[in-house]
Amino acid sequence: MSIISDSLKRIKPSPTIAVTQKARELRAAGKDVIGLGAGEPDFDTPDNIKNAAIKAIKKGDTKYTAVDGTPALKKAVVRKFKRENKLNFSTDQITVGTGGKQVLYNAFMATLNKGDEVIIPAPFWVSYPDMVLLAGGKPKIIKCTEQEGFKLTAKKLKKAISKKTKWVILNSPSNPTGAGYTKKEIQDLAKVLIRNKKVYILSDDIYEHVRYDNFNFFTIAQLSKLKNRTLTMNGVSKSYAMTGWRIGYAAGPKDIIKAIGKIQSQSTSNPSSISQAAAVEALSGKQDFIKKRSNAFKQRRDFVVKSLNNIKGISCLKPNGAFYVFPSCKGLLNKKTKLKTDTDFVQKLLEKSNVAVVQGSAFGLDGYFRISYATSMNNLKKAMDRIKSFCESLE
Ligand code: PLP
Repeated sequence: MSIISDSLKRIKPSPTIAVTQKARELRAAGKDVIGLGAGEPDFDTPDNIKNAAIKAIKKGDTKYTAVDGTPALKKAVVRKFKRENKLNFSTDQITVGTGGKQVLYNAFMATLNKGDEVIIPAPFWVSYPDMVLLAGGKPKIIKCTEQEGFKLTAKKLKKAISKKTKWVILNSPSNPTGAGYTKKEIQDLAKVLIRNKKVYILSDDIYEHVRYDNFNFFTIAQLSKLKNRTLTMNGVSKSYAMTGWRIGYAAGPKDIIKAIGKIQSQSTSNPSSISQAAAVEALSGKQDFIKKRSNAFKQRRDFVVKSLNNIKGISCLKPNGAFYVFPSCKGLLNKKTKLKTDTDFVQKLLEKSNVAVVQGSAFGLDGYFRISYATSMNNLKKAMDRIKSFCESLE
């Protein structure tokens, strides 16, 4: 009998972390590898946020806090939702966890019974299906095509809902495609969900602040008819370059918020007191970092999209946000190139040209790959040259 539980056997380690690890190993072996796999901003946390953390340490904010967030941070989250999303919540509708990842994990643990279905539009963030499996639920993957902008349509949503559907996940702007849902697109999905009355919505807004070309961010809880069935998750990792601080939060129905707190009380307890103090400053202090950083990302996005579309066999949509592109490599998967799948493409690219990217199949859609452009322009230029030479060498 194995010591490892059956539920753990249902899941696999994160493929994006695996690629980053592989790139690290090759680099340690002396290879000049450019890693475009990591999902974190290359910017440093702004100084005002770091200083708030230092102040918290000196003041002695170094003890346990309330399990699901300090009153100060919950109030800052309430103000954030009001200021940026015109959403009113009370502090008992807010939970704070060790990263958005923990909040999502707790939400599934708190709500899923065996066999409950969760609708996950693909391409998806790699952790959603495995978290659902771990919680005993059933991921229902709905493929969204490039022609659909990699976004879920009302028609597909309607077809996917069954008696067992508990949640539908929306992630805008998205990891891995960068696609953002417009207000109209969300309203169309909402019509199906309002009619249905039972399905809950998990809106993952973690990339809210990384968006371009005046793309108007809209989140489904802003539709009053769905607010009481929506859990809106967000965090400071991507918005404020704070991935290592591990603070995420969610707002939603009190019963779910309370249940999430119960799980947290028996697992990790509160997120770091110091990180929470830093997050108060991130959410309440000056916000100019967001604009400056988005401008830098926009330059990189434009460069990467243009460069990729200049490569024969590759085509790439222009994303609305996040720091990823999701180009197609289908034009290079054939007998002549001897590449059959996106995984072949990604492996050969790493072997021959020392560029690490992640295969689309890891995100639930074959024939694509994900590039994270959260790295320097210099690295991106080198990487694009290498990808071009590699693709040309296949001809
Ligand atoms: N949601 C998406 C779509 C993500 O890409 C990530 C991180 O990569 C998260 C949630 C979780 O972020 P964190 O746990 O750092 O808040």
